[in-house]
Amino acid sequence: MGIVKFDSAGEWNVRVPLLIVGAGAAGLCAALAAKEAGVEAVVIERDAVPSGSTALSAGLIPAAGTRFQRAKGIADSPDWLAADIQRKAHGQAPTALVETVARGSAPLIEWLTEHHGLPFELIENFNYPGHSALRMHGLPSRTGRELIDRLRNAAELNEIIVLTGCTAENLFAEKEGGVRGIEIVRGDEKRERIGCDALILACNGYGGNPELVRRFIPEMADALYFGHPGNRGEAVLWGEGLGAELACLAAYQGHGSVATPHNILITWAVIMAGGFQVNTEGRRFCDETCGYSEQAAEVPRQPGGIAWDIFDARIAVVARQFEDFQAAERAGAVLIADSVDELAAQMRVHAESFAEEWGDVEILKTRGGRDRYSRSFSAEQKLLPPYFAVKVTGALFHTQGGLVIDTTGRVKRKDGRLFPNLFAAGGAAVGISGSTAAGYLSGNGLLTATVLGHLAGASAAALVSDQSE
Ligand SMILES: Cc1cc2nc3c(=O)[nH]c(=O)nc-3n(C[C@H](O)[C@H](O)[C@H](O)COP(=O)(O)OP(=O)(O)OC[C@H]3O[C@@H](n4cnc5c(N)ncnc54)[C@H](O)[C@@H]3O)c2cc1C
Repeated sequence: MGIVKFDSAGEWNVRVPLLIVGAGAAGLCAALAAKEAGVEAVVIERDAVPSGSTALSAGLIPAAGTRFQRAKGIADSPDWLAADIQRKAHGQAPTALVETVARGSAPLIEWLTEHHGLPFELIENFNYPGHSALRMHGLPSRTGRELIDRLRNAAELNEIIVLTGCTAENLFAEKEGGVRGIEIVRGDEKRERIGCDALILACNGYGGNPELVRRFIPEMADALYFGHPGNRGEAVLWGEGLGAELACLAAYQGHGSVATPHNILITWAVIMAGGFQVNTEGRRFCDETCGYSEQAAEVPRQPGGIAWDIFDARIAVVARQFEDFQAAERAGAVLIADSVDELAAQMRVHAESFAEEWGDVEILKTRGGRDRYSRSFSAEQKLLPPYFAVKVTGALFHTQGGLVIDTTGRVKRKDGRLFPNLFAAGGAAVGISGSTAAGYLSGNGLLTATVLGHLAGASAAALVSDQSE
């Protein structure tokens, strides 16, 4: 798996102008963009029905300056989004790429809405950490399943060929760096070689490859992996074989609020709308509003490797817009009590310290000021009974390191030059989150998958068209 064969005279079962590995958000946006530019792409997908991590996500994409924001009177700009991304990434994200993505975000949402019928709407009733404007756009069900189903539908309407049940195993290249094609293995073990003029890697990262996670992200080696199991790191392995530049391999999107033992995502809205987390000793342990990604490692460090999300009925209404939260309620993951003591008893946490922490939070909401972790609660409403609690743990969602690309999606070599016909997008390429989990701003995943997927598709199509003239 993931081997590069330097074989420039390969025999092909079939040749296509543009080959895309992976039919997640990045691969399908790339194929749609190529089609618009007049180039037929063939997409290789390991699964029988494309889903990817895209289907597991909440499907929320940040975009700055959209008509949806303007209709609600929300001021925003690509510069603000770029500044927010860099602030969260501690200035470590590649500037040109961040600007490209931020500038491309509103046109991308409008393209998906107007050209491909995806009914995006602005999320208005809570904001994610680090975003200076309301700019998350989601589909009616607030699920990534709806996002991938609608993208797949758009691909079908555009007669894009998606070869499902096919795993791209080996990559053929010339010693000089030109990519020649891919060897695929079908479900029935049949092998075929597909030659191409250009290749886009949209096969996400290495979260589904325990060996690579242990090698690059040891702090999450034993953590729950909550992303798509089929993302096994071929982009990184091929990149290593080809001499591509790889960066930020320790970075990842994590999450510190996965209901356990139910394994259901509990939206961070429960925290951002005025909730907080405590450990089994009833103690808070951080400023939760820094972000959910860094909590992925923080929560497992607490006694028993778990924490509790604490909120109330008003916040539960906000959370219920997500189908995952409704599923958690149905699964019995959400505890409800009429008093703080009763909640502590149900949670089996230390009642006195829990009541003390609760009191401190509520005082801060009334009087203002910051807690010992520097969190401000002054804009938050008091929690009112009935009170809610969910036992959660941390999980690895998807890796953020990968192939270094330029602003057209072309993959860079270690010597700084570009590969002539190799592109990458989404989780296969390096992210815009810097080198740690803490650098991940909510939405960076789908933002880069969709905007850079579109860009890589358009750039690869232009290359292929130029070559055929
Ligand atoms: C639980 C969860 C919630 C999330 N919520 C959000 C959110 O709300 N907003 C946000 O921005 N991001 C979110 N993310 C991150 C987001 O899902 C990813 O960043 C995004 O989906 C990546 O898209 P992609 O197309 O690169 O990868 P994917 O959607 O994973 O697609 C990659 C595809 O490639 C296929 N593939 C892999 N290897 C091969 C191979 N060798 N041959 C053939 N096919 C292959 C896989 O089967 C898969 O279908 C979330 C992630 C998770 C896990």
